[in-house]
Amino acid sequence: MKISDKLAARQTFSFEIFPPKGDLPLEKAYEVASSLAEHRPDWISVTYSAGGSGNSENTVAIAGDIEGKLDTSALAHLTCMGATAADVDAYVASLAAAGVENILALRGDRRPGRDVVDFAHASDLIAYLRQNHGDLCIGAACYPEGHVESPSEDESYQSLYLKQEAGADYLVSQLFFNNEDFYRFREKCLRHRIKLPIVAGIMPFTSVKQIQRMAFNCGASIPVKVVKRLVQAGDDPEAQAQAGIEYACEQLEDLAANGVDGLHVYSMNKPSIAAAAATAMRACGYIA
Ligand code: FAD
Repeated sequence: MKISDKLAARQTFSFEIFPPKGDLPLEKAYEVASSLAEHRPDWISVTYSAGGSGNSENTVAIAGDIEGKLDTSALAHLTCMGATAADVDAYVASLAAAGVENILALRGDRRPGRDVVDFAHASDLIAYLRQNHGDLCIGAACYPEGHVESPSEDESYQSLYLKQEAGADYLVSQLFFNNEDFYRFREKCLRHRIKLPIVAGIMPFTSVKQIQRMAFNCGASIPVKVVKRLVQAGDDPEAQAQAGIEYACEQLEDLAANGVDGLHVYSMNKPSIAAAAATAMRACGYIA
């Protein structure tokens, strides 16, 4: 089922997984996806070479398994940096063969040796998909604190507006730790005539090192309240991870209470994170 239809019907709840590396990657991914599907999410998204991992070969196979074997909608990511139109056509054909009708159209991060070929920006990919593969439901990325490369706030909203005009059906946000940033972003989108549904993406921090890496990679700011939680957790890795899950659940509850269009949990292939988020969302009545 198309994600746009789900978003039109209700506030959604979803998870993200990434194709694992190493031996038996498909079996491992299937195991993780099965655990996530037990919570009956509206969809599970599958990343494409996220973080420059180069791990994209299994995205379609995993998404196909989620649709076909787990009876759950799948959202397959695709990045266009370095891709040709023929590459995109071949990817879309493999999605159709796997029974996947939802795609998240992304540019991908800049990396040495990967130059622009047919698509410079995500909006170019979205326009191409809309014109040539119009039946797909197309999602796009957004950034409550602005994209790290954006020279100005105005430019950031301008490029989002282009995604909408190119034919995106909805937006999924980058992670953020301060809900006020998301609420401000939501209001400003409306002022910039961006009317697409916006799904809020939440990733629990798991350690001091991991949150530093995330802040550096995607430009998310770390509020003092998060620093305090980490200080209270001290050097104990388990206490740090627990603090992260608790904080993320509080964020999710607050977003749910503030009329968010959808909640997307970056569950990082950890079924325990998905279970904690689903329990919190059930307790506050966001999901049944
Ligand atoms: P774009 O929309 O092209 O934006 C990139 C930059 O270019 C921005 O600064 C934007 O303001 C600017 N820009 C856009 N259009 C124009 C224009 N016409 N003129 C001038 N400037 C313009 N990465 C992966 O590799 N794999 C994944 O699976 C993946 N999944 C993600 C999922 C989500 C929900 C999010 C938020 C990000 C994900 N990423 C993933 C990371 C993403 O690829 C990076 O953030 C990337 O740097 C930008 O992607 P984009 O689609 O937003 O690009």
